[in-house]
Amino acid sequence: MTTEARRSESRSNRPEPVSDTIRVRMQTTAQRNTGPEVALQCALRELGLQFLVDQPPDSASRGRADVVFPVEKVAVFVDGCFWHSCPEHGTWPKRHGDWWRSKLLANRRRDEDANRVLRDRGWRVLRFWEHDEPKEAATIVANAVLNDTAAGGAGTAVERGQECGTV
Ligand SMILES: [Zn+2]
Repeated sequence: MTTEARRSESRSNRPEPVSDTIRVRMQTTAQRNTGPEVALQCALRELGLQFLVDQPPDSASRGRADVVFPVEKVAVFVDGCFWHSCPEHGTWPKRHGDWWRSKLLANRRRDEDANRVLRDRGWRVLRFWEHDEPKEAATIVANAVLNDTAAGGAGTAVERGQECGTV
């Protein structure tokens, strides 16, 4: 999930905020901006990995991935708990329920379509929730990338311990 997509989603033609809870959550999401993605990117850099950020992984991709390893063909997404209906934190608002339901279901379908398109084209797709621990997620990503010897990936490991500046 990219910042742009999230911004355009939150800017799209939606009803008035349906409750204080949701209004607060949406504001929080906007303010936090790219927090979960940046946290993962930072953890990956600390593991010494190099990658592209916020790019369409493939010419067939309509959306962008948060982290892309073009040589190893690994695409990583960090999905927001609300917009992608996390089983732990996702909610289905009651007011304007039909509108929200179709919106959130459309998001889910779009995620599934993106996964299928990429996998059909030889990509490995890793998806994490924004609530996932960034360092744990980074370890999973690193394993996927660095164990990619079969595909002849050159590997992107560089010096470990790079400082990851505050973003
Ligand atoms: Zn969650």
